Amino acid sequence: MNTLKVDSGGGLGIYCHIPFCLKKCAYCDFSSFSHQTEAVIRDYFAALHKEIRKFSEENKGSILPAVDTIYFGGGTPSAVDVRHIEATLLLLNEVFQIKDDAEITIEINPGTLTTDKARRYKKAGINRASVGLQAWQDFLLKILGRVHSQADFKKAMELLKEAGFSNFSVDVMVGLPGQKLEDVMETLQAVIKYAPTHLSCYSLILESGTPMANWVESGQLELPDEDEEREMHWAVDAFLNEQGFLHYEISSFCRPGYESRHNVKYWELVPYLGFGLGAHGYFNGQRYGNSNELNEYCQLLKADKSPSIFEPAMTPEEQMREWMFLGLRKLGGIREDDFCARFGESYFVPFGEVIQSLITARLLVWDGSVLKLTPRGQDFGNQVFMAFV
Ligand code: SF4
Repeated sequence: MNTLKVDSGGGLGIYCHIPFCLKKCAYCDFSSFSHQTEAVIRDYFAALHKEIRKFSEENKGSILPAVDTIYFGGGTPSAVDVRHIEATLLLLNEVFQIKDDAEITIEINPGTLTTDKARRYKKAGINRASVGLQAWQDFLLKILGRVHSQADFKKAMELLKEAGFSNFSVDVMVGLPGQKLEDVMETLQAVIKYAPTHLSCYSLILESGTPMANWVESGQLELPDEDEEREMHWAVDAFLNEQGFLHYEISSFCRPGYESRHNVKYWELVPYLGFGLGAHGYFNGQRYGNSNELNEYCQLLKADKSPSIFEPAMTPEEQMREWMFLGLRKLGGIREDDFCARFGESYFVPFGEVIQSLITARLLVWDGSVLKLTPRGQDFGNQVFMAFV
């Protein structure tokens, strides 16, 4: 029986962070830990569950929207014992009202999926898988330090299909050391055969301090130059468009109707709760972030303390800025009417000059009702987003 009161309006999103991986990838600076014992993992889930219960207790009596998206991200959620995921979903069902048609996603690393896990995810109510392939070629997977091979990906796809998953996303990367345009195209052609409903295509970002950044700095590895990286991006765009995918956000492509409903919440400033190590949330007009230290996160919850640091409630001006720089990530752009409905005035009132200068620089285009990125704006997205910060 869910313990929180519910309103019938727009849905609430829930993100659960599972910070464990079999092995750290060479480019990764996310909150994730490899080679942890089952005891550490068990303690972590006890803390995660405590955080969820604590939220429930502290919000007893509040009217909350029903949950329409849940996302298990990481880390590698598929690396941990499936019982932890099942127990977390049971608890979420106990605490929240979850809509029957909620989108429930789990991130999967191909090297970690088994028949048992795939079946039990499905049985537990998970209806969307996000599979981290990154590249089709084993030599690139090795450079990235991924635990899986191309063969593992093929196997994972079979297991997901056998278990009844038809809604799944595949992550691929461009701009990798040693990667050529032909490799990117081969990756896409191979992936498309598995009929994904969604693809995410990310450019490699070198994070300082990672092995990958050190190898590039010391000249052991060479990245494609910026023009080559952009050529890869546009080749992905052209190929997937031809295949009937919509390019709906800078890094995201989907079959019509298969946008990631959870991720769209991030770009539309819709409330979502983040549970777990380093998780972020946006709730009651306030952003918050959880402790990034595994030990601290667990100890705080053991002591019945909050692991979250809350930012001050956002002013209307801050909300407007966020609405602009997050919303412009969507390639469909931002409708002036939607902005007016939310803030009571057109975006040209607070941001007229900024918008005009971005239009003059051919980074944004205005068609009389919608403001959106131009193709050039996609190449220089950060310049656009920073203009609203
Ligand atoms: S699987 Fe993902 S989270 Fe884990 S180390 Fe690799 S990139 Fe990082």
